[in-house]
Amino acid sequence: MPRVRPMRTEAIVLRQRPLGDADRICVLFAPLHGRIEAVAKGVRKPLSKVSGHVAPLSRGTFGIAPGRSLDIITEAQTLDAWPSLHDDINRMTEALAIAELVDRSTDLDIAARPLYRLLHQSLDALASTPSPASIRWWFTLRFLDQQGYRPELEACVRCRAVLEPDGNGFAATEGGVVCPRCRSGGLGQPLSAPAFRLLRYMRRSSCEATAQVNVDAATAAEIERHLRLSVEQALDTRLRSRDFADDLARAETLGKRATNAASSGNGQREDQHRATV
Ligand SMILES: [Zn+2]
Repeated sequence: MPRVRPMRTEAIVLRQRPLGDADRICVLFAPLHGRIEAVAKGVRKPLSKVSGHVAPLSRGTFGIAPGRSLDIITEAQTLDAWPSLHDDINRMTEALAIAELVDRSTDLDIAARPLYRLLHQSLDALASTPSPASIRWWFTLRFLDQQGYRPELEACVRCRAVLEPDGNGFAATEGGVVCPRCRSGGLGQPLSAPAFRLLRYMRRSSCEATAQVNVDAATAAEIERHLRLSVEQALDTRLRSRDFADDLARAETLGKRATNAASSGNGQREDQHRATV
């Protein structure tokens, strides 16, 4: 939906795609506006004023004006180009994975200040870290918190027993760690003591401290698996709730039409419908 008046905002460029011969559609992420899709005109031609300032995974200030069907980027100024992130394939891969999560989890034009801060901090850290994967894990744990899907790491999600490091399982569908007794019923995936300890350490530590931890390949693979399942669970729940909200909006529209069509009675039924969903 095109916006009504021009605006200026700080934003991080998540990605871009070509539009026609000369333009690009840029997906920006801004603290007060969430995801913004806007056209950078003429960026694939020489002498474009904005072309050097809309690279994916850079931070800048952007002037955005309403266009006929899509918003237009009228000016752009880079604040952080993060060259050391772009020059390293491992850092870049992790940064793109983080950007994709932000892209998939946010709506157009919805304020997202905490997620913006988290993204900014993570890209800053990625630009200087020797262990980029651990920064993505650190990001993912906090991302899950913000999505309302904080994995439980202190007490068994089934029986609430206080957890010791050994013999646990990780059950993404249940929302976290299960104790050895509940795990014996076949619940969740095995969770090794090193992976359990690392998850808890990352939860309470800064991203700089997290980047200092040496992680062996088996533990890294395990952390990847548990976090991936948790993210899928969180995004799936989100998509379902969005479908549900769409269904609800549709039902309300139909209800209003019915109310308008009939002289009485339907409005009351609509209220009852609302109260039960
Ligand atoms: Zn238990």
